[in-house]
Amino acid sequence: MNLPSLKARDSHIDSYLDRSPRQNAITGLYKCEYCEGTINRFVERQAFKHRSRFVILENVTIGVGETCGNRYYSADILHAVEAVATGVRSPERTESIPVAHLKPN
Ligand SMILES: [Zn+2]
Repeated sequence: MNLPSLKARDSHIDSYLDRSPRQNAITGLYKCEYCEGTINRFVERQAFKHRSRFVILENVTIGVGETCGNRYYSADILHAVEAVATGVRSPERTESIPVAHLKPN
């Protein structure tokens, strides 16, 4: 797996951490592009926003800057997000996302 190859910040895909127990951490293989820290890799469930659509990928390996927290995604991940968001590839299932204001109306 090639990391870092693309970063969500540089594309039209935003990402949101869905914090689940981190497994299979691999540390110290890459230097962060944004600071002097290293990038740790985790297998996680991660939500991405592609234009106005959300896509969740499960069990994807992502990189996280140990010091600065910048997140790194492989090109494969971003291509999968785009394919599902645009209907090129069907999702395995769909979950609904609750929406609310800070205080109830
Ligand atoms: Zn960093």
